[in-house]
Amino acid sequence: MQILTNPHALRQWHTEQHRAGLRIGVVPTMGALHEGHLQLVDQIRPHADRVVVTIFVNPLQFGPNEDFGRYPRQFPTDCALCEARGVDAVYHPDVPGMYPDGFQTHVEVEQVSQRWCGASRPGHFRGVATVVLKLLNQTGADVAIFGQKDWQQLQVIRQMCRDLDHPAEILGAPIVREPDGLAMSSRNVYLSAEQRSNALAISKGLWHLQQQVASTARAPAELQAELLATIAASGGQPEYVGLVQAESLEPLDDFSVAGRALVAARYGATRLIDNVELPVRDVQAKP
Ligand code: AMP
Repeated sequence: MQILTNPHALRQWHTEQHRAGLRIGVVPTMGALHEGHLQLVDQIRPHADRVVVTIFVNPLQFGPNEDFGRYPRQFPTDCALCEARGVDAVYHPDVPGMYPDGFQTHVEVEQVSQRWCGASRPGHFRGVATVVLKLLNQTGADVAIFGQKDWQQLQVIRQMCRDLDHPAEILGAPIVREPDGLAMSSRNVYLSAEQRSNALAISKGLWHLQQQVASTARAPAELQAELLATIAASGGQPEYVGLVQAESLEPLDDFSVAGRALVAARYGATRLIDNVELPVRDVQAKP
C-alpha cells in the first residue's frame, strides 16, 4: 500500500494508473476510521481498479467553536486498517499542502446547502465542497463514494459535480450501525456510556417514524414534533428534525414523493446526525 502525502506525488501515482488504463476509486474521510468507512472501501471496489482512501481533517469545514482541534487522529492505526482491507493508496496531505498561503477559491453549492446542517453550521458545506473538489481533482477520481449517513453532504457533492461538470461518478453507501442501532461515527468516542445509551433514541425514533409513515396517515409536522420531543426526553438537545424531499432537501408537505427523515442532536457536547429513508405513501388512496 502506497502512502502519499503531497499532491505532486499523488498526481504522479494517478497518472501512472491512468496510463495503464486503470480506474481510480476514492474514499474521502477525516480518518479515525471505523467499520462505516471500511465498508465504503468494500463497496467501491467493484467499481474501481485502484482504491485510494484520503485522510484529511479539513479545517475549512469546522466552525470556530467546533471540534477541529480535538477531532480524533490515529494515522498509523488508520493505515493498518486500510492495508488490511486491501486499499491501494492512502493520501494524507497536511493543511499547508491543501491550503497554501494565498489560497482564495471556494466552492459554494447554493440551495441544497442552506437548510439543516447548513443552517446550524454556517460555512460547513462550503468547506466540504471545496475540499472534496480538490480531493477529486488531486486523486484523479473516476468514481468516489460517500456514506448516506451524511445525507445532505451526499446531495451537496452530487449537485457540485453536476454543476461543475466533474466527471467522477458519485456513489452513496448505506449507513453502517452498531449492533444496537447507533450510527457509527468517529465522534461516538466522545460519548459517555450514559450519553451513548440515551442517544439510541435517535435511531429508534427514526425507525418508529419510518414505520408511522408506512402504516398511518399521520402528517409530517406531527411526526417531526414527536421525534423532537422523543430526543429531548432522552436527554438530547435536538438541533433539527427534517422530513425532506430526498434530493432537494426541501421540507415534505406529504409523503407522496421519495423522502428522508434527517436528525441532528447533541448529547452533552457531542453532535450526532442520522437519517432514514421514508416510504412513499399513496396519498390519493387515503380518505
Ligand atoms: P468522515 O470521516 O466522518 O468525514 O466520513 C467519511 C465518509 O464516511 C463520509 O462519506 C461519511 O458519510 C462516511 N461514513 C461515516 N460514518 C458512516 C457510517 N456509519 N455509515 C456509512 N458511511 C459512513
